[in-house]
Amino acid sequence: MGRLDLHLHTTCSDGSVAPARVLAMAKTAGVVALAITDHDIVQGIPEALAAGAELGIEVIPGIELSSLHGQIEVHILGYGLDWQDSTLAGRLARLRAGRHERNPVIIERLRALGLAVTYEEVLALAGTEAVGRPHIARLLMQKGYVTSAKEAFDRYLAEGAAAYVPRSLPTPAEAIGWLRDAGGVPVLAHPVWLKQSGESLFRTCAMLKEAGLMGVEVHYSTHKPQQTAEYLDVAKRLDLLVTGGSDFHGVTKPDIAVGVGRGGLEVPTALLAPLKEAAARLR
Ligand SMILES: [Zn+2]
Ligand SMILES: [Zn+2]
Repeated sequence: MGRLDLHLHTTCSDGSVAPARVLAMAKTAGVVALAITDHDIVQGIPEALAAGAELGIEVIPGIELSSLHGQIEVHILGYGLDWQDSTLAGRLARLRAGRHERNPVIIERLRALGLAVTYEEVLALAGTEAVGRPHIARLLMQKGYVTSAKEAFDRYLAEGAAAYVPRSLPTPAEAIGWLRDAGGVPVLAHPVWLKQSGESLFRTCAMLKEAGLMGVEVHYSTHKPQQTAEYLDVAKRLDLLVTGGSDFHGVTKPDIAVGVGRGGLEVPTALLAPLKEAAARLR
């Protein structure tokens, strides 16, 4: 049998574990097929494909795009995309440039709050990794301003916290269009983040389907059983694909493990074939 995990982050975005090592962890966890879904970047995919070939794990090229619907941040996963597509590469580069412009502003806010941190220190700490808020969190820990990454996010970096800076993001329809242009199957990530249920959830998903959405991440580390049931029902009513994954990040989400999430995650392997068929139809 084996497990499926279609939502994993690596050091290419804000994860703490390199792609090949994530594959090794997946092997230990009994995962037979997975998708690396780094934020706005596909650079981890070749390393994952190579490690997957070596370990006998099927690797589906993936990505996770952030988008903004009004005030709500909506994450769209993309599966089976042509990760070497040059149009996609250009769009992703512009997205990431927007993020780089944001990080120095966060540092300015922290300095205004009296914290002795510089952007140079964040860059040095990130090394070759894509700079993000987890690096700022690590710097705040090193300097003794907080005792954990979670505290850094809660007090300073999370939405609504003291040094939070919003990003300029595409709309969900744009993100979905970019994925489909690159042959990727767009899937709504962790619907629990929408904080919606019943009719409002259904309407949001119907609106996303209208924009080209093809699936819903029904199985997710932090979904409660009744939420999983409701998301499954919405996916069925709208004739959308069902996917699932852990959203593993390594040390920044220490309670989430590859393949099993908080321990109880079970993504049926039967979900893989319909997803691959849908991706093949997009090519
Ligand atoms: Zn996400
Ligand atoms: Zn994610």
